[in-house]
Amino acid sequence: MNILVINAGSSSLKYQLMDPDNGNVLAKGLCERIGIDGKFTYKVGSKTVIDAKEVAMPTHAEAINAVLEALVSPEHGVVKSMDEIDAVGHRVLHGGKEFTASCVVDDACIAAIEKCIPLGPLHNPANLTGIRACQAAMPNKPQVAVFDTAFHMTMPPKAYIYALPYEYYEKDDVRRYGFHGTSHRYVSARTLEVMGLDKNPGDTKIICCHLGNGSSLSACVGGKCVDTSMGLGPLAGFPMGTRSGDVDITIVEYLMDRYGYDIKEMMNILNKKSGVLGISGVSSDFRDLSAAAESGNERARLALDKFTYEVRKFIGSYAAAMGGVDAIVFTAGVGENSADVRADICAGLEYMGVKLDADKNKTRGVEAEISADDSRVKVYVIPTNEELMIAKDTAELCK
Ligand code: AMP
Repeated sequence: MNILVINAGSSSLKYQLMDPDNGNVLAKGLCERIGIDGKFTYKVGSKTVIDAKEVAMPTHAEAINAVLEALVSPEHGVVKSMDEIDAVGHRVLHGGKEFTASCVVDDACIAAIEKCIPLGPLHNPANLTGIRACQAAMPNKPQVAVFDTAFHMTMPPKAYIYALPYEYYEKDDVRRYGFHGTSHRYVSARTLEVMGLDKNPGDTKIICCHLGNGSSLSACVGGKCVDTSMGLGPLAGFPMGTRSGDVDITIVEYLMDRYGYDIKEMMNILNKKSGVLGISGVSSDFRDLSAAAESGNERARLALDKFTYEVRKFIGSYAAAMGGVDAIVFTAGVGENSADVRADICAGLEYMGVKLDADKNKTRGVEAEISADDSRVKVYVIPTNEELMIAKDTAELCK
């Protein structure tokens, strides 16, 4: 079976054609600058066959057509015809309270995604555009929507409710939703497998640290999410590349009054100019930050310290919330690649029974246990694979 996995943004579209049974990626790539000039990149295996070629893409429809053309092209296609593409799986940001799992795209599903637009105003419209473009290009292929929020819907009310007037929850759906759910689901399930507990997880307690440009933590008991750091939107939690994470709301009022910002400007500062970029003034990229910190840049060092300190605090609070922790798992760009960040986060957690093995922690980008043999809490690196989860859900729902 071959599943086309689509992650549509407002002016970009990532795609992968993969076999959900073995995770084998036949081809993948990126359409960028949709609505501007259109750039198309196409990779077979690790080889870039088409590199940012200019292709007219006034809308997502032309982008999807460019993807399909490349996949079946006699020159560098990976399938003979469209018949060999069985279904399409779409990443969708916000499923609101409606979606606790992935669903086959039909009129009701589209209406429900539309209903969630106020909760995901930047992403849901783009995701819908991707779905509609695929429906137009492949009217007979089943399509599945996989939601970033769905995995977190098992949180108990005390974790998802905000201490605001209850009517905002009842009437306006204001609550914690959480994001990166497909990654947290993959990583927590894979961790149980690695621990040999997937058939019988009991109440195994896992903290998943998805640390990338956007970052979030989840607390999972027996493979089910019980808490997560992002909230109604993906700005919440600890500092990220450019997002502030949780801040005292008083700061918002104070800065808006002082500088006359409107709410759009203020949100832009919190989303795009804050996080480790805001503190350091250097970069949102952790490689740049590490290099700057090593060459003596104190604000870059402070940004890294702030990041690891806040992640450590979240780990402590989730251990308290779950009554212990059996495994801590690192994933995504920073979590998979930065031994220093992992070591700094774990450095304050010895009291909880967390002991890293410095040699094992030197690993990068591959699955590994990095805790010392006598560590009470296991620590792992598990590279995330959201596309595989999307492909598996799609295959399962289209059987
Ligand atoms: P993601 O959002 O998961 O793609 O992660 C992107 C982030 O991973 C980038 O901002 C980088 O800061 C970070 N990253 C990638 N490789 C490394 C590395 N070798 N060391 C530290 N950070 C890395």
